[in-house]
Amino acid sequence: MEQVSLPPLSRVAVCGGTHGNEMSGVYVVREMQRQKVEKVGSASVTTVISNPRAVEVCRRYTDTDLNRCFTDDILSSLVTDASPYEVGRAQELNIQLGPKGSAEAVDLLCDLHNTTSNMGLCIISYSFSDWVCLHIYKHIQKKITSMPVRLILLDIPLSEAYSQESLGKHGIAIEVGPQPHGVVRADIYNAMKEAVDQTLDWVKDFNSGSVFEGGKLEVFTFMSVVDYPRHPETNQIMAAIHPQLQDRDFCLLQKGDPIFLSFSGETVHYEGEEPLYPFFVNERAYYEKNIAFRLARKKMITIPCLQVNKD
Ligand SMILES: [Zn+2]
Repeated sequence: MEQVSLPPLSRVAVCGGTHGNEMSGVYVVREMQRQKVEKVGSASVTTVISNPRAVEVCRRYTDTDLNRCFTDDILSSLVTDASPYEVGRAQELNIQLGPKGSAEAVDLLCDLHNTTSNMGLCIISYSFSDWVCLHIYKHIQKKITSMPVRLILLDIPLSEAYSQESLGKHGIAIEVGPQPHGVVRADIYNAMKEAVDQTLDWVKDFNSGSVFEGGKLEVFTFMSVVDYPRHPETNQIMAAIHPQLQDRDFCLLQKGDPIFLSFSGETVHYEGEEPLYPFFVNERAYYEKNIAFRLARKKMITIPCLQVNKD
C-alpha cells in the first residue's frame, strides 16, 4: 500500500458557535476553555466562539450566515459600516486562524455544528485527497459506537469553499444531530465532545510518529438539493417532509418513494432516476435556503498509509 508522510500539525483550532444556536459546539468550546485545554502533546490548541453576537442572542446569525462568508471573494471584500456583522467577523477569523490558503494558517481547524436532522455524527470535509481529514474520520468512526459515524465530501475548490473549516490547512466540520437549535441534549453533546477528544488524540499520536494504516473508506459525496413544493406566488411551502422520509437520513431513496405530504393530503414521490441518499432531511435552518433535503451518492475510496514527516 502507498505510504504518505506529511508535516506535523503544530496548531489546532476548535471552533463552536459559528451558528449561534447550535448549542453542543458552544458548550464543548466553553468546557474546553474552562478546563484550559491549550495543548495536546506538542500541538497548541486554540478554542474560539466564532459568532459571539449570534451566541448571545441564540440565533443562527445576526445579519447573514457566517458559515457562508469564507469564500475568497467575501474574505477580500471591503468592509464598511453598512456591511453585515458576519462579513467583518469572517475577516477577523481569517486573520486569527488563516489567512486561508497561506503557510500561516492553523494546521487543523475543527468547526462544530448541530443539525435538527437525524444524521448521527458526520464529518464534513472539502477534499477527496486530504489524508489528514480522511484518517481522522477513520479514527473517529472506529472509536465512536454510540451513533452512526459518516463522512460527507463536498468537492468544491478552496477559493469557493464557503465554510469556516476551509481557513485551516486541513479542516473538518463535525455535524451532530438530531438536536433542536437553541437546545442542548446530553447524547448529542457527548458524541460531539468525544469526536473532538478523539481528533485531538489522533493529532497527538500523529505528531509523535504513529503510523496509520490506509484502507478503504465509505464516503457520501454531495450531489444536489431538493426544495419543498412552494406556492408559485407567495413562495410559501405547500407540503412537509413525508413521514416515511422524516428521520431517515442516509436511507437509500428510490424512484417512486414518498418524499413530501402536502397540506391537502397528497403524497409527492421522488422522481430521480438514480437512487441516492438523502441527508439534512428537514433541517430547520434550511427552510430559508430553499432546501428540504440534500442528496448524496455513496462511494468507496482508498486512502494511503500515513505518518508524520519530521524533516
Ligand atoms: Zn451549523
